[in-house]
Amino acid sequence: MRLPFFLLLFSAVLHAQTFELEKYIEVRSGTLPIVLTVPHGGSLKPDNVLARRYGVTGTDSNTIPLSEMIIEELQARYGGKPHAIISRLHRSKLDPNREIKEAAQGDPTAEAAWHRFHDSAHEACDAVMKKHGLGLLLDIHGHRHLDQRVELGYLIKGEQLKASDAELNANEALIAATSIRELDKRSPQSFAELVRGPQSLGGLLEFRGLRCLPSPTKANPGILAGYFSGAYSVTAHGSRERGTVSAIQVECPWNNVRDKPEHQRRFAQALADSLGVYFEIHFGRKLK
Ligand SMILES: [Zn+2]
Repeated sequence: MRLPFFLLLFSAVLHAQTFELEKYIEVRSGTLPIVLTVPHGGSLKPDNVLARRYGVTGTDSNTIPLSEMIIEELQARYGGKPHAIISRLHRSKLDPNREIKEAAQGDPTAEAAWHRFHDSAHEACDAVMKKHGLGLLLDIHGHRHLDQRVELGYLIKGEQLKASDAELNANEALIAATSIRELDKRSPQSFAELVRGPQSLGGLLEFRGLRCLPSPTKANPGILAGYFSGAYSVTAHGSRERGTVSAIQVECPWNNVRDKPEHQRRFAQALADSLGVYFEIHFGRKLK
């Protein structure tokens, strides 16, 4: 049977669009209880996608090679890969770490790419919960704040981090609004310890030579400000909304982390080592 011409054309267009989206948003399934999302490292600027007219449009340089190294180091230690969702589009075309209106600004291809990014992250979290019962999503970024620390975002504002440990631990509304809501219930440590104690992710990374915020050495941003507390992706996919996958926005400084391949490698190794300890202490199980 011969298909009518318009149907052939329709199917060819659909096929081309699917291929285009797969190129813009790369999705890799994994076996570890970890999901990496990498929204701002892309460089593609296709002519058929309108430039965004407002919001931040700068790239988080080198976050894609950095994430590749994190994947390699996790695999070397724990015998499996994390799930990974990587935007290859330049941030001037799509910002996956915003709600769709600001992210795509009405462009239909950018909107479809945004849906592919977040549907894939959602499905990866479901796959992790099904296989492992729990997990962690890390949203990988880069920042250029004056204080060059690794900033870890849990949806706790810099101002809120100025509270004492006792005040943080007593603030149930604040804890319930974080991207690690469910992990806090699971962890044997207090909420303040989970966020800035010696075995918080910041504490474990500092032990391996990387300055962090929040961490045992820096509880809050102080007056000089400049701290990213987390945005769309950790809100949408962390355990604030649902489920047992918690999420942390990981903002990497340029100096000594993203600037050179040897520094990227050192960070990837420190993060992979830290995550092994983090899983044992807070999730109560080995990472594998
Ligand atoms: Zn970013």
